Amino acid sequence: MNIAHHLASTLKTLRQEREWSLSKLAEETGVSKAMLGQIERNESSPTVATLWKIATGLNVPFSVFIIAPESEREAFDPQQQAMVVTPIFPWDPVLHFDHFAITLAPGALSESSAHEAGVIEHVVTITGTLEMCIDGRWQPVPEGEGLRFAGDRPHAYRNSTDSSVLFHSLIHYPKEKAAD
Ligand code: MN
Repeated sequence: MNIAHHLASTLKTLRQEREWSLSKLAEETGVSKAMLGQIERNESSPTVATLWKIATGLNVPFSVFIIAPESEREAFDPQQQAMVVTPIFPWDPVLHFDHFAITLAPGALSESSAHEAGVIEHVVTITGTLEMCIDGRWQPVPEGEGLRFAGDRPHAYRNSTDSSVLFHSLIHYPKEKAAD
């Protein structure tokens, strides 16, 4: 099963487990019903930002969509390729975090809606200079440095340089909210 097919079938399964219609899913995630239908039918690949809205609305870890059992390290690579997310340590029921390696293309900007309440995000720049917008203020995160922030508020990631930026993101989910 490739990652796109895994994502589509996981979304459908999670929706059906909750006995939600596509309209209800749209209400809970803030993603349009038309877009959700296209993702479930594997006709459209969501951006990372859209997939985060879906994970938050369903109250599941982001990594459940991008970890197919037979392809643990396959990167989630949406059509724009502006932001490519590769799981390093996927969420597990004991430890409650996702750890990703993320590549931002030159000039890329990714705006994230708020994750679920209580999510704490930690970013560490590995190569290049990442810029983060937290509480409306842009700040650089130089190579080798980290930033911890409340992920349950809107935030954004930017690469203003002309080479790719690689950073790690560790997403800590509150215990009582995690999908176990
Ligand atoms: Mn985020």
